[in-house]
Amino acid sequence: MSSDEVEKVVIIGSGPAGWTAAIYAARANLDPLCCIGIPRQDPAPVLPGGQLMLTTEVENYPGFPEGVTGPDMMQLFQKQAERFGTRILSRDVTSCDFSQRPFTLTLNDGSTVRTESVILATGATANWLGLENELRLATSGGGVSACAVCDGALPLFRDQPLAVVGGGDTAMEEASYLTKFASTVHVIHRRDEFRASQTMTERVLEASNSEVHWNKQVVDVIGDTMIEAVELEDTVTGERSRLEVKGLFIAIGHSPATGFLEGSGITLDDSGYVALEGRNSHTNIEGVFAAGDVADSVYRQAVTAAGMGCSAAIDCERWLADQGVH
Ligand SMILES: Cc1cc2nc3c(=O)[nH]c(=O)nc-3n(C[C@H](O)[C@H](O)[C@H](O)COP(=O)(O)OP(=O)(O)OC[C@H]3O[C@@H](n4cnc5c(N)ncnc54)[C@H](O)[C@@H]3O)c2cc1C
Repeated sequence: MSSDEVEKVVIIGSGPAGWTAAIYAARANLDPLCCIGIPRQDPAPVLPGGQLMLTTEVENYPGFPEGVTGPDMMQLFQKQAERFGTRILSRDVTSCDFSQRPFTLTLNDGSTVRTESVILATGATANWLGLENELRLATSGGGVSACAVCDGALPLFRDQPLAVVGGGDTAMEEASYLTKFASTVHVIHRRDEFRASQTMTERVLEASNSEVHWNKQVVDVIGDTMIEAVELEDTVTGERSRLEVKGLFIAIGHSPATGFLEGSGITLDDSGYVALEGRNSHTNIEGVFAAGDVADSVYRQAVTAAGMGCSAAIDCERWLADQGVH
């Protein structure tokens, strides 16, 4: 790319936050350029279209009463953004120079893009165990997921034995949520105590349909088209056992996609998410905005990401107008 042209706004990321920001920016005549990313393993899969490319049914996004698959939904978002003139660049941004305006973004092919403003919408990747059968069943609707709030209420999990892997607050939240639907929630943890807060831990331990498997790790996920069981290994004795479950929820954290911001001066919070200034989408650098999961360690839902994308585009348009860029 590398030209003398200066973009008004570059949106980095093509999940619900990025595409929504693109729709708003395009309709505001900002002629946005959207860097949609390239497919990579990081170590979990990261795809243009974002985290929803890894799931099948999405039942909680308003406007789809019959549900929609994640990939279909992201295709519709993209189509809507393109309809208003969003330009697409199939590249990853590898580094950002925000020290002077226009800003300079370096792409994975070594080329650069100059821009007056940037919307960061690179998401946060759910951490997976990295087992072949785990990802196969996760992407084919086979009963493996990394989001209980997203998938726990699906009919296939109702009144079934389910397993949650993890020992932190997220795992306790997911396990506690699943006790509403499951016959039994098996919490599988590799140590003999949880990292989670006492309140969260007690909520799970006190549930009548929860069972904790201490010192155990999942070494395989068994099932052809649907999960049937997990193979466990005792982390102390090495002994293997089989646990029959109809659903598996991996709750071992998320990795916000902020590596490309290293050295850029953008402030991150203690967990590595982009820190926002107050209730809007401004980062600590004027002209750089953030939206979606990359700046939200709390909700991490498609609809909240889309809402933040809308806010970021509006904040960006107003900021550009103040700078005399229309
Ligand atoms: C298994 C699973 C199931 C889920 N199910 C649901 C559900 O049913 N309902 C729901 O509301 N939510 C669901 N979620 C959560 C939802 O997917 C996320 O909240 C949402 O995708 C966040 O949107 P985002 O735009 O912030 O980020 P993402 O969707 O993660 O998109 C980030 C984008 O940034 C790109 N990117 C990353 N780094 C770079 C870079 N350096 N340069 C260029 N591009 C880059 C990626 O390619 C990607 O396109 C689920 C999540 C998982 C993991």
